[in-house]
Amino acid sequence: MKDREQFGRKIAQFQITQHKLADMATKIEQARLLTYKAAWNFDQGRLDPKLTSMAKMVAGRTAVEVCDEAIQLLGGYGYMAEYDVERFARDAKICEIYEGTKEIQKNTIASALVGKLK
Ligand SMILES: Cc1cc2nc3c(=O)[nH]c(=O)nc-3n(C[C@H](O)[C@H](O)[C@H](O)COP(=O)(O)OP(=O)(O)OC[C@H]3O[C@@H](n4cnc5c(N)ncnc54)[C@H](O)[C@@H]3O)c2cc1C
Repeated sequence: MKDREQFGRKIAQFQITQHKLADMATKIEQARLLTYKAAWNFDQGRLDPKLTSMAKMVAGRTAVEVCDEAIQLLGGYGYMAEYDVERFARDAKICEIYEGTKEIQKNTIASALVGKLK
């Protein structure tokens, strides 16, 4: 983005591009903080499936959304197998599937919030 030029400007100079980067960086930081909180909680000897499920779900979703935006920012190059970001996107998607799909993480979070109903 700092190299490629379109309409006489670097892609990274467009404000919409910079806003996308700001959103991506913010999402990553949110996911990181939630993950660290869940890990810290575990290190304190507390088991909180709600928190770990939130961390897993948010980190997986963030990886998918950020990689999708990264492909978009690189345009056609982003989609091509020759560029790393295409592989990052495939690697990210599995985070929403293995070790508990995002739907199952939501079940865990919801049951912790609602509790057992009779
Ligand atoms: C690359 C890769 C590596 C893997 N590594 C391992 C490993 O090392 N060890 C291991 O044990 N497994 C591993 N797995 C398996 C992985 O954990 C499962 O694929 C995952 O748990 C999802 O199970 P499934 O594929 O049977 O999907 P399914 O259970 O068939 O689910 C399909 C869809 O239905 C949804 N669904 C299912 N049940 C419900 C429900 N009750 N409510 C709402 N939605 C539901 C799911 O969320 C999903 O979207 C791996 C899978 C892959 C692809």
